[in-house]
Amino acid sequence: MAEILVAGAGPAGCAAAAILARQGFRVTLADPCPPVPPRIESLPAAGQRLAAELGLAPALSDAILGTAERIELAWRPDSEIRSFGHAGPLLLSRPRLHAALRRAAFAAGAELAAERIDRLEPGRAACRSGAVLVAAVILDARGRAAGGLAPLGPPRAALPFRGNARREQPSMGLAALADGWLWWAAAAGELQGLRVAAPGTLAGMDAAGRQGWLRASGHPITETCETGTPVPAGLAAADPLAVPGIIRIGDAALARDPVGAHGLVHALRSAAQGAAAAATWLRHPAERGAAEQFLRLRHRTDCTAARAATAASHAEQGRHRTAFWQEMPATPALPSSPPPGRLRLAAVAAQVPLMAGGHIQWARGMELRTDGTQLARLGPYPAAALLAALAQPGTADEFAARLARLGPSQAAAPAVAELARLGALVPA
Ligand SMILES: Cc1cc2nc3c(=O)[nH]c(=O)nc-3n(C[C@H](O)[C@H](O)[C@H](O)COP(=O)(O)OP(=O)(O)OC[C@H]3O[C@@H](n4cnc5c(N)ncnc54)[C@H](O)[C@@H]3O)c2cc1C
Repeated sequence: MAEILVAGAGPAGCAAAAILARQGFRVTLADPCPPVPPRIESLPAAGQRLAAELGLAPALSDAILGTAERIELAWRPDSEIRSFGHAGPLLLSRPRLHAALRRAAFAAGAELAAERIDRLEPGRAACRSGAVLVAAVILDARGRAAGGLAPLGPPRAALPFRGNARREQPSMGLAALADGWLWWAAAAGELQGLRVAAPGTLAGMDAAGRQGWLRASGHPITETCETGTPVPAGLAAADPLAVPGIIRIGDAALARDPVGAHGLVHALRSAAQGAAAAATWLRHPAERGAAEQFLRLRHRTDCTAARAATAASHAEQGRHRTAFWQEMPATPALPSSPPPGRLRLAAVAAQVPLMAGGHIQWARGMELRTDGTQLARLGPYPAAALLAALAQPGTADEFAARLARLGPSQAAAPAVAELARLGALVPA
């Protein structure tokens, strides 16, 4: 019997399986391994750092088609071309990424079960073949196929397309249309992208209809492209701990609207968090409550951030005022800088969950009075030190000066700005 069953060998499942197998757990990775359709996906610098932290940089490098040098934007009223300099996102081949991450999981010791799982229950998975896989802990990483996701934004469908890139430099493009938007990436002679719309727009279209609809976007990039099969793409989420003993990770917990992007970053980050929770359940059962609270808090933060990212992209779009663009409600703007005048920190000392050393434990921390956010530390500052340093009211500059005496001075102003962004600095 495996200690841990990971259902789904996409980016989230493979990352979690590799992390846990490296820690010595007996891990089974179950996936029917259907062919992965060609697709280019972008990974920003934050995702590259995260992959390196998780020991997955070599797997990533096997999938790199190029580093995007620029993005052509037809989003705001004026078209623009932005150069990324040296910090461009990686453009990854999705089939190569799958293959490389699976190799990393198997090299770490995870075993493959080439099974399609029809039903997950605490401790067991019923497979289409009739087999039953049994494990102490299950990570559900089946992506949107896990089902049970509730919409957090308007429904969206993405029509993938591909063609030959006529450009030499790896690049990307983003264009707002009246009934949706278009994203494409070109690298290593390939051009791939998606046209996103409300699902009703695509309903009832056959392959020829979809091909015609893509061309009708009017964007020159689509002129010689072939379309694929539409896939759901709206922002949606599910409780990561709805079923006892099962932890949802990746798209199975939070599937992002591609306009907010960063699906891969979330897949890797939630894999690390889900793996740490599974390790805690098995090796530190007394801390099970800390693991569960940690996952719930992170999930809430991630959902809020994903909604804000989607809403911000809609708000920035200044070319069309159509129903598609008005469907996503704006989220309240977060303060971008600390408020003026004398402030106080609206937070109290609390026991909070902390992820460290591959598992989760209770630690001394603080809880923000505004929305219950719990922090063990902020940047280099432990929460207890922050609470002590900011116990007396002061201006934002005075707070930064006090923090600068505690640790690296360059981290002080960003920490104060982050507290303001979290709404934790209120008039004294
Ligand atoms: C068209 C499109 C373009 C995108 N572009 C980008 C991009 O440029 N950048 C970015 O960061 N993100 C992008 N994303 C999002 C990104 O692909 C996902 O967020 C990411 O792949 C999620 O990883 P995952 O492992 O959670 O799920 P998935 O990648 O969906 O993997 C799920 C795995 O589970 C397996 N599975 C499914 N059902 C079962 C079952 N019943 N039993 C066993 N196994 C099963 C599947 O075979 C698959 O291997 C895009 C998404 C789409 C749809």
